[in-house]
Amino acid sequence: MQKQVWTINKLISWTIEFFKRKNISNPRLSAELLLSHILNFTRMELYLHYDLIPEDIQLKKYRELISKRLENVPIQYLTKEAYFRKLKLFVDERVLIPRPETELLVDEALEKLKKLSLKKKEAKILEIGTGSGAISLSIITEIQKICPEISLEVIATERSAGAVAVAEKNARLILKEEYPGILKIINCNILPENDSEFDNGYFAAFDMVISNPPYIRETDFENLPEEIKEHEPREALIAGSTGTEVYSAILDRMNDYINKETAFIIFETDPVTFGDLKKISESRFENALIEIKNDYNNLERVLLISIY
Ligand code: SAM
Ligand code: GLN
Repeated sequence: MQKQVWTINKLISWTIEFFKRKNISNPRLSAELLLSHILNFTRMELYLHYDLIPEDIQLKKYRELISKRLENVPIQYLTKEAYFRKLKLFVDERVLIPRPETELLVDEALEKLKKLSLKKKEAKILEIGTGSGAISLSIITEIQKICPEISLEVIATERSAGAVAVAEKNARLILKEEYPGILKIINCNILPENDSEFDNGYFAAFDMVISNPPYIRETDFENLPEEIKEHEPREALIAGSTGTEVYSAILDRMNDYINKETAFIIFETDPVTFGDLKKISESRFENALIEIKNDYNNLERVLLISIY
C-alpha cells in the first residue's frame, strides 16, 4: 500500500474532519491557525504552499497541538498569541484571552481622551486588572494617531503575579524603550496599600479609570463553555455571589485618587448584572452622568461614569 503523503492541503482537510467528529468548535480556524503556527506561516501562506510537505518534527508538534485542542484548550493558548484591536499579544494560561467586546472600552477611552485634550495636555490613566495588558497597551499605542497632542501616564494594576509577568512581557515587546516610562505595571489588589510614594504621586490625580474586572457570578460559572471554565484563570472571571463585588471594591478605593474635575470611569459590564452596577455607581456618585453602551450583539457592555 502506498504511504500517505501529508501535504499542507491534506493535513488541513484531515484535521477539519477530525475536529468536526470530535465536536471541537471552529474546526477550520483551529486547523489553519495551529498549522500556520507550527510552520511559522501566515494563514495566507498556507494556501500559497498547499503542496508543501512539512518535516517530521513539525508534524510531531502539530499532532501534539491537535491532541491539546481535543482537550478544549483555546487556540490562543496553543499558539501563545491573541489579536486585540491592532495588537498581537503574547498570552498563556496565566491570563484571560482578550475578548472582542472589550475592544469597545478602548474606543470609549480614546474618545474621552480626545475631549479631555481640549482641557489639558497630560492625562493620568489607571487600569485595574490589566491581565495581558490589552486595554492599556491599545490606548497607549493608538492615542498618538487620534490625539497626538496629549501625553499619557498609565498605571496598570493586577493581582495575579503570573498575569503581571505576561503584561510586562507584552509591554516590552510592544512599547520597547517607551516601557516603563509611559506604563507602570503594579502587582497589587486594586491599588497599592500604605504606599506613601503612590499616594503622594496619585492623590486626586487620575483623569480616567478603566477596568474589565471579573464579573461572573459564582452560580453562573458552571454554565460557561468548557474552553473557558477549564482553561482560563478563574480569578480573572469569578467575582463572587452577586457579580458586582470587584466593581464595588474598585469604587471603594477610587474617591481619593480620581481628579474630581475631569474624571471618568469606564467599566466593562455583564449584560446580566449591569443594572446592579448602575445602581451601585449612582449611589456612589450623586452628580455623575452614567451611561450604558451596547456591543455588536446589542448587549449592555460598557458603563461610563462621568464625574463633574
Ligand atoms: N484587562 C484584561 C482584558 O480585558 O482582557 C483582563 C481582564 S480579566 C476579566 C480581569 C483581570 O483582573 C484578571 O487579570 C485578574 O487577575 C485581575 N484581577 C482580579 N481581581 C483583581 C483585584 N482585586 N485587583 C487587581 N486585579 C484583579
Ligand atoms: N466576557 C468574559 C466571558 O466571556 C468574562 C470577562 C469578565 O469576567 N470580565 O466569560
